[in-house]
This record gives sequence, C-alpha cells and structure tokens, in this order.
Amino acid sequence: MSRIPFNIPYTTGKEVDYIQQAIANGKLSGNGIFTKKCQQLFQKRYGFGKCLLTTSCTDALEMAALLLNIKPGDEIIIPSYTFVSTANAFVLRGAKVHFIDSRADHPGLDEDKIEEAVTAKTKAIIVVHYAGVACDMEKVMKIAEKYSLWVVEDAAHSIESYYMKGEQKIALGSIGHLATFSFHETKNINSGEGGMLVVNEPSLQERAEIIWEKGTNRSAFFRGEVDKYNWVDIGSSFLPSEIIAAFLWAQLEEIDEIQQKRLKIWDLYYASINAHLNITLPTIPDYATNNGHIFYLVCKEGELRDEIIARLKKHNILAVFHYLSLHKSPFYINQSSRTSLTQAERYSECLVRLPFYADLKEEEILRISEIVNHVVENY
Ligand SMILES: *Cc1c(COP(=O)(O)O)cnc(C)c1O
Repeated sequence: MSRIPFNIPYTTGKEVDYIQQAIANGKLSGNGIFTKKCQQLFQKRYGFGKCLLTTSCTDALEMAALLLNIKPGDEIIIPSYTFVSTANAFVLRGAKVHFIDSRADHPGLDEDKIEEAVTAKTKAIIVVHYAGVACDMEKVMKIAEKYSLWVVEDAAHSIESYYMKGEQKIALGSIGHLATFSFHETKNINSGEGGMLVVNEPSLQERAEIIWEKGTNRSAFFRGEVDKYNWVDIGSSFLPSEIIAAFLWAQLEEIDEIQQKRLKIWDLYYASINAHLNITLPTIPDYATNNGHIFYLVCKEGELRDEIIARLKKHNILAVFHYLSLHKSPFYINQSSRTSLTQAERYSECLVRLPFYADLKEEEILRISEIVNHVVENY
C-alpha cells in the first residue's frame, strides 16, 4: 500500500508560467503587478478593506501588533488552543497575554469567556476561526464595542469561509478591524510561505502601508501623492517578492476548483467515519460555513487518539494532533501563574487531524476511514 502523507502542497501547474511572467516584467521585488492583482482579488471577492500581502501570517500578526501600538503593560485576549504566532506577535511588543478556553462543542474560542477576561489594560481580542469555522462574531464585536477594544481575526484557516447573519454571508476576515491570512503550504491556498494583512478599519489603512514599507511613505510616493519618500514611522520588511505573488496568483485563479475538491474530501470523510460514542465528529454551527480546511476527530480519551495515530502509521498513513495549548507551554508557564483551561487541554490531548490535501484520492479516504472505524469500534 502506498504511503499517505498528511499534506501535499497543491499546485495548479500555472505557477511557473506566472513566475516567468514576473521575470519578464523586470520587477521581482514586492508590490508589483502580481502583488496588486492578488490584493485586488481579495478586496473584490470578499469585500475586505485594504489588503497587503506579507511573507507569512506571522508577519501579518506582527504588523497588526505594531499598527495597534501594543506596548508593555497592555493586555490581549486570545484562545490558548492556537498556533504560537497568534500570541508571539503581541508578546514581542511587550503585551501580557490573557488566554481563554475553547468551546465544549468546537476547538474555537469560547465567546462567553471573553468578557470576564477584560481588564482596564485590555487592548485587543484576537479570535481564531479554527478549521475555518467562524467564531460567533456578533458576540465578539458587541463585547469589543462595549469596552472599546480592537478585534483581530486570525483567519489563517479561513479563506472562503463565512459568518452567516441570517441569510447574509459575510466573509471571515472582513469583520474585525484587522485580519490575517496564511498561504503556508499546509493551508487551502498556498505560496509555500506567505500571508496577508487585511485592514478593514479605515483610520489604520494609511499607517499600515507605511509599516509594510519599512516605515517609509514609499507607496504614496510611487502613486505621486508626495514628492519625496521619507522615513516617517516605525516599520519593517513585510513585502513578499513578486515571485511569491506570481505563485499565489496561479492558486487564486483556481480557488473555486481547489475548494470544490477540498469540500468533496471533507464530505466523504464525514460520510464514511461512523458515529460512535468514543469519538465526536466536527460540528458547524448554523452561523458558520465549512471551507474544507481540516478534517478532525475529537476522541473520548487521549489514549484512543494516540492509538489512531499509531495504527494509521503502521499502514504508512500520517495523521497528526494539533496545537499544544499555549497556557501550558514551557515559555508561558515559567512567567505566569498556572491556569487550567479544561477544553483547550482536552483538544490538545484528544484531537486528531486526518490526511487532507486537494489531491487525496477517494479510495485513500475510504481506506483511512476504515482503519479509523476499526480502531474506534474496538477501543
Ligand atoms: C498557520 C497559522 C499561522 C501562521 O501562519 P504562517 O503563514 O505560517 O506564519 C497563524 N495562526 C494560525 C491559526 C495558523 O494556523
């Protein structure tokens, strides 16, 4: 039986053509034709505010922390069950992180735990739409308004996902003041490494561009809005090269096909993994949509999770767990009082992600499901 990896980065076949075009254009540094094409597509397709491509989602989060003037003494609220970059970007600016728990029915943050974490020093709430499934954004935005807090959507998983307000579909990434996306090779749309900052809040848009361009007003200069370009603020080098943007453009052109393939895989997993008391299948609340980013199971016990991973490995199939809750990380635990977050710890221990990539074959999904069903039923 052939080996099934956890991920194979998807390529459309057009990437090299567009990179060649970028070379022919004679401009390989950032903010060229392909960068603009990608940014405009996002603005148009999803109604995002100003979009700025970055070299990673991590960079976009670091830009967010700069843009919100996060400084020592400030506090931010984030879920513990997330990737390290969500927290690190703000800790780098000296912020104190207030971790909150996940929901019992979903690894996303528990919106009902946000308000009790707010203090006079809180500056921002960073939400993570886990597996591309929306947080209850109406609840989040209401709390943010009440306490005048910024909201950043870590939308690394969330391309082509929506928050449903009745019949109205609102794209994730268009709701918070800021949002960040990832085009890492493990995400639905990839450029190897890559990311994007979305600036929905109009009063932050001009400064975002300056921070993006190393603290200069270079972009305004090239548009002819100022006659010299100068050092005007703090900033850093966040632009990806046109080579990366050209690669990303090839992917964006095929976003509908890629999404169709991924949703088909998700649906087939969902149909072929048997319901059982030993596991919980993913749920999508009625205010959220599914973008086929991850297929995960939550096991009744950590031991079963480990057994599923081990059994699949015996068949040359790579399934993986996900985040180790940040409130229990060696870095954090040394500098703060120990807290216990029941749900986050449960997901760290009991959640398993099955192989998921656009070219995963039907017979492979069935083979994986059969092994999982067997382990679950005999546990
Ligand atoms: C992947 C991921 C990131 C980091 O993305 P990079 O582009 O690799 O920096 C941040 N947050 C979450 C929730 C992620 O899954």
